[in-house]
Amino acid sequence: MSKECDVLVIGAGIGGLTLALALHDAGISCRVYEAVPELRPLGVGINVLPHATRVLGRLGLNERLGEASIATKEAAFFNRHGQLIYREPAGIPAGYATPQFSIHRGDLQSVLLDAVRERLGAHAVVLDHKCTGASSSDDEATVHFVDSKENTYTAKASVAVACDGLHSALRKQFYPNEGMPRYSGVNMWRGAVHWKPFLSGATMVRAGALVPGVGKMVIYPIRDNVDAQGRQLVNWVAEINAPQPARRDWNGAGRLEDFFPAFADWHFDWLDVAGMIEATSGILQFPMVDQDPLPRWTFGRLTLLGDAAHPMVPRGSNGAGQAIVDADVLSRRFAELGVGPQALLAYDKERVKATGDVVLTNRNAPPDKILQVVHERTNGQPFSSLAGIIDDAELQSITASYKQVAGYTVAGLEAAERM
Ligand SMILES: Cc1cc2nc3c(=O)[nH]c(=O)nc-3n(C[C@H](O)[C@H](O)[C@H](O)COP(=O)(O)OP(=O)(O)OC[C@H]3O[C@@H](n4cnc5c(N)ncnc54)[C@H](O)[C@@H]3O)c2cc1C
Repeated sequence: MSKECDVLVIGAGIGGLTLALALHDAGISCRVYEAVPELRPLGVGINVLPHATRVLGRLGLNERLGEASIATKEAAFFNRHGQLIYREPAGIPAGYATPQFSIHRGDLQSVLLDAVRERLGAHAVVLDHKCTGASSSDDEATVHFVDSKENTYTAKASVAVACDGLHSALRKQFYPNEGMPRYSGVNMWRGAVHWKPFLSGATMVRAGALVPGVGKMVIYPIRDNVDAQGRQLVNWVAEINAPQPARRDWNGAGRLEDFFPAFADWHFDWLDVAGMIEATSGILQFPMVDQDPLPRWTFGRLTLLGDAAHPMVPRGSNGAGQAIVDADVLSRRFAELGVGPQALLAYDKERVKATGDVVLTNRNAPPDKILQVVHERTNGQPFSSLAGIIDDAELQSITASYKQVAGYTVAGLEAAERM
């Protein structure tokens, strides 16, 4: 059997599809193999920050993404009583060259998939091929698949990149004793509902606190003008400390009674949070999980990318963004060094430590640390003023240090653009 392309991409999620587009842009041939027989617009909201929209913009996708999403204008932090703690501009209003998109994961995946099919051809994405393992020899990578009827297939390429998400088959092959994803002690209930615009109409809200007996909400609009009343599709995530993790199924259904009591009195003058939750149908549930950073992703002609390489708790809106940045870096290293182990090792060198730091910072010092700090200093009570509780310098330093670690300061991205 001969090689069918330069790069075999495993998984047609956010990272795999972006990689296919970036490779095509660099003149490198690839084919994407995806486990599910049909790609449906699954999930709810996701944020794509400027380090990732910079990559997607270069791939010519930001116009389409802009039509399918909300360009986020600001991030705002509130306590569980609805009192504003801190707000800062986001995306273009914050001085970035490219926007921050709040978007339905299904819309993001559809924009990427359509572009892959338009540019690489209708057969560039092969569905119903679940990767079961892979091997590497001196000159090729061999990947094994099974379909939903239990037929098996083999494909060969110069290298194979596992973009197969949280339950990656190749990660398990490389690290068989790693164990299950690590539960953070927090479960998440997620939903999206047609609702009136609130605050700026493009605000990403974090409210409450992740402490026992209280809960945290993340709320932001992801589509504009979804009906004749000018409502938006508003995405929300309710997070609560819980001893047992929910089932790790992205499409797992959640029950209102399991989390609503923590938010039942959240009727703020700027948003009726409780009313919004009650109006939502099709609530999903997922545990907040990650994995310890790995020492390496590359083994011969095989490597990992995105959640397969560095699953992280979604407290910094960086899961999709880091997968997109991985795809950009890997395609550049291939273009510079050729499609082979040398480029894979250069990619490892640039991304393993950088993303490991993001995983650990999402655990220990994500942007919503602001909420914990204020909750502790006020004992969870309303405040009449923030004076003596926290000042602007401390607030700014929390979000600024997160941006530094995650690689999306305005200055850092401008410098990267000049290189
Ligand atoms: C169905 C689904 C819904 C999600 N919903 C949300 C959400 O609402 N909010 C959020 O923040 N994040 C969500 N995520 C996760 C988010 O997409 C990722 O954290 C992030 O975008 C990183 O992308 P990724 O490409 O590494 O992984 P993913 O986007 O998870 O993509 C992985 C892809 O690999 C495929 N795959 C898995 N195993 C195999 C295999 N053995 N062989 C071949 N293909 C395989 C999967 O079907 C999927 O298409 C969801 C992921 C999935 C799969």
